Amino acid sequence: MSDGEILDSVGAFLHRHLPPAEIRRRDAAHVPPYDLMPGMGTLGLFALAVPEEEGGLGAAWSTIAQVQLKLGQHAYMVASIFNRVVGFGLMSVLGYGSAAQRRLLVPPLMSGEAFCALALSEPQAGSDAAAIRTRAVRHGDGWRINGRKSWISDARQARWLILPARTGPAHEGHRGISLFLVPTDSPGIAMTALPKIGNHCMPSFDIGLQDVDLPADALLGEEGRGFAQLMSTLHYSRASMAATVTGAAEAALQIALSHARERVQFGRPIGQNQSVAHRLADMRMRVDVSRLMVLHLAGLISQGAPCRREAAQAKIIATETLRDVADVGMQVLASAGYSAESDMQRLWRDSRLYTFGEGANEVLRDAIARELGLGAGT
Ligand SMILES: Cc1cc2nc3c(=O)[nH]c(=O)nc-3n(C[C@H](O)[C@H](O)[C@H](O)COP(=O)(O)OP(=O)(O)OC[C@H]3O[C@@H](n4cnc5c(N)ncnc54)[C@H](O)[C@@H]3O)c2cc1C
Repeated sequence: MSDGEILDSVGAFLHRHLPPAEIRRRDAAHVPPYDLMPGMGTLGLFALAVPEEEGGLGAAWSTIAQVQLKLGQHAYMVASIFNRVVGFGLMSVLGYGSAAQRRLLVPPLMSGEAFCALALSEPQAGSDAAAIRTRAVRHGDGWRINGRKSWISDARQARWLILPARTGPAHEGHRGISLFLVPTDSPGIAMTALPKIGNHCMPSFDIGLQDVDLPADALLGEEGRGFAQLMSTLHYSRASMAATVTGAAEAALQIALSHARERVQFGRPIGQNQSVAHRLADMRMRVDVSRLMVLHLAGLISQGAPCRREAAQAKIIATETLRDVADVGMQVLASAGYSAESDMQRLWRDSRLYTFGEGANEVLRDAIARELGLGAGT
């Protein structure tokens, strides 16, 4: 299938299963579109990222980025599920899972039957992820895990948590961390939903782990290399977020443009005022820059070229673009945007997450500065 045909089938699927009124209903009632996952699987969307020798479609990342732009423009609630399966779950398991783990996870992830949540953050370890205290110790032939995780998105619906835990002494920092594949129905796991102001179709949970016993093969990758493994696939999740929020920024721009053309005050459309028109011109430029960065990054990923700096840049540019475009969009729509029924208010509320989620932009700027040879911060 060509990229155009794939995008047409994605568009038809979204039009049919997630029309605008349904997006609003789900957001207001906090109903994530998990039920659409098998249909997305049948469409082959999750298989795009899986190599042909593993049973997938082996698409270039630039095709995946186009799909993410389209999903993000339609509704972040469905794009975030796609990103969890493809940008995080599949790329982690394909990146450092054993042959047995790949056999266990890849088929249900590809079909949309199941997905993994990343359980990294803890109450005392947000940006400073190496400060995690959740500990895994050898117990009989396997492992026993104790600790606490916070703000873990979609954890209750996930079949597995990909969970970093400390297996070495605390003073080893990121070197003493290993990854575990933890079934969410394991005895000893307790989840509490956290109330929040946006992204209502991506519920987040505080997770207590008390004497959670796992078999030896729950270790994902190598003992003590968990942090390095996470870093090795981070560009996929950053590229995924950048693409989907750029799609969301395009949606905000289109809503503002329609309103500026249609809303008449003082006898003419408000878009005829230069101060409004210039705002829309600036929005157009910002979204285009973000899209170009997303596509540039996707090209580097497709070629297997190094792209750590570009991934951080794309994530910063895209998330700050959406934040600013949604904020200006609210001003252009005024009361029409402030209505709880407006799509702009949902984009505006949701947009506040992305500049600090998936790596706070301040910390990413430090990483970019380090790539420039400057000894900045973290
Ligand atoms: C809705 C939601 C969903 C989430 N989903 C997940 C998930 O699925 N899995 C998961 O593991 N985590 C998840 N998180 C956690 C998320 O990754 C963290 O919120 C993020 O890492 C930031 O950590 P923090 O909130 O503790 O902020 P902090 O780390 O306390 O940072 C607070 C502020 O200080 C700034 N700051 C911190 N250190 C520095 C520094 N060295 N230099 C300059 N500025 C600095 C930050 O940029 C930020 O502005 C989620 C969070 C939310 C709100």
